Amino acid sequence: MNTEKALQVRSESKCELCGATEGLAVYEVPPSSNGGADQCVLLCATCCSQIENPENIDVHHWRCLNESMWSQVPAVQVMAWRMLKRLSSEGWAQDLLDTLYLDEETQAWAQAAGDRESKEETVRHLDSNGTLLATGDTVTLIKDLDVKGANFTAKRGTVVRGISLVADNPGQIEARVNGQRIVILTQFVKKAS
Ligand SMILES: [Zn+2]
Repeated sequence: MNTEKALQVRSESKCELCGATEGLAVYEVPPSSNGGADQCVLLCATCCSQIENPENIDVHHWRCLNESMWSQVPAVQVMAWRMLKRLSSEGWAQDLLDTLYLDEETQAWAQAAGDRESKEETVRHLDSNGTLLATGDTVTLIKDLDVKGANFTAKRGTVVRGISLVADNPGQIEARVNGQRIVILTQFVKKAS
């Protein structure tokens, strides 16, 4: 029996995270799935795209984990745990995470990619157009910004060179403007091309 068939039987042809019945595909659990059914889950297109694009996450979709986290299938437990971890700033997700018990082996598997994913998620700084920002980039302000505590307004159109990223906050960058180091919200800048 091939993997897809095996997963359809196991899941009764439902997304193993949210229960949807449309657009199902085999998802190999990172980081090192061998492609066998025990290291894959059957997911719908919605779950799959949100797992792969953390910036598009629809928090409410993942309320489904409330049920699927109790699956007996380790691969499903791993994906549920990772998504809850990613959503752990939401109180309900943290509550579920607190009650989700994984055996030692499954826990290690869940964490094998979890750290990397959560790091990627927290360090993705996107400008007002959704363009990825990096340390050293030049950006332009898209609106006048009153700089708190510095008593000046950084004007719209100001070119800001050599930004640095605020590590724990994807919504903030730091840069020198008017000779002062200030924090700027990424939603108010545009990466210079
Ligand atoms: Zn789904």
